[in-house]
Amino acid sequence: PPRAVDPGRMDEDAGEVGLRPQTLEDFTGQKASRENLAIFIAAARARGEAMDHVLLHGPPGLGKTTLAQIVARELGVGFRATSGPVIQRAGDLAAILTNLQPRDVLFIDEIHRLQPAIEEVLYPAMEDFQLDLIIGEGPAARSVRIDLSPFTLVAATTRAGLLATPLRDRFGIPLRLVFYTAEELRQIVSRGARKLQFDLTPEGAEEIARRSRGTPRIAGRLLRRVRDFASVARPGPVDRAMADAALSRLEVDSLGLDAMDRRYLRRIAEFHHGGPVGVETLAAALAEARDTLEDVVEPYLIQEGLVLRTSRGRMLGERGWRHLGLQPPARQAD
Ligand code: ADP
Repeated sequence: PPRAVDPGRMDEDAGEVGLRPQTLEDFTGQKASRENLAIFIAAARARGEAMDHVLLHGPPGLGKTTLAQIVARELGVGFRATSGPVIQRAGDLAAILTNLQPRDVLFIDEIHRLQPAIEEVLYPAMEDFQLDLIIGEGPAARSVRIDLSPFTLVAATTRAGLLATPLRDRFGIPLRLVFYTAEELRQIVSRGARKLQFDLTPEGAEEIARRSRGTPRIAGRLLRRVRDFASVARPGPVDRAMADAALSRLEVDSLGLDAMDRRYLRRIAEFHHGGPVGVETLAAALAEARDTLEDVVEPYLIQEGLVLRTSRGRMLGERGWRHLGLQPPARQAD
């Protein structure tokens, strides 16, 4: 079964669209990014020009797509969305670019998965709003230059490190999204409950927030799961005990970790005496893709100090040992 705490987008998240904040003011958290965007949006509006290109990077589910939509709305321009793996041929990208209206926002999710040949098409488009296309084949092939409307590329990636430097350098506004605090998530959960007309006490919201791994997408999903659980339980508002019962039933523990996370932690503790151990070794042992470990499983464990990333591999942090109910070794290697 899909993990309740997977930060990636899943089918059951179709309902999250209704919970999306629509304006920068409604967007909770990410204060630094929000303030930056507000300034750039105001400046672009005042000049009547396309805003500079934005690179949003950070773990899945933190609001990259949501922010891209908000940017378009606040600029008062059109919004077009696609993603790196969807764009298969240069012609696909050319078709999208030539159809943009002046100052539109083009959102490319997972830009690190764009093919290199297509990246090449993107460079002159981003820099000079021009497309260089090869028409025809063989000796009859010729190159044509097409002018594009000025546009704003908002790109999202879970891993800025995977982007080619020339691509990264073409974004005037790079923004890093960070995990949300428990209080920010509590506000998001409470607001989501109101939108769903779901009677949730502040303590119930706090319990869901605490177990959402700093990620609004997970908070929204757990909120809907708790609501489903409550709808078949007793009537009345859902409090902390009820939220706790529902989440425990989903095997989401007090820190928001599930069976997969605990398997990962236990592997380092029991097979590698706390590490260091390479991520490839862990991925093979757990039968997970390395990318899944790095993008989906590890970021939150590292942020919470359960796991440490060292040059020699992953190590269990002191909190990791304690969370497993184990005693950390008296002295860990550094
Ligand atoms: P990403 O593109 O980074 O994977 P999304 O923008 O799709 O993440 O966000 C996932 C869901 O989380 C959104 O649909 C929205 O419901 C919710 N969400 C994200 N950021 C916020 C926020 N700051 N406040 C409230 N809800 C949010």
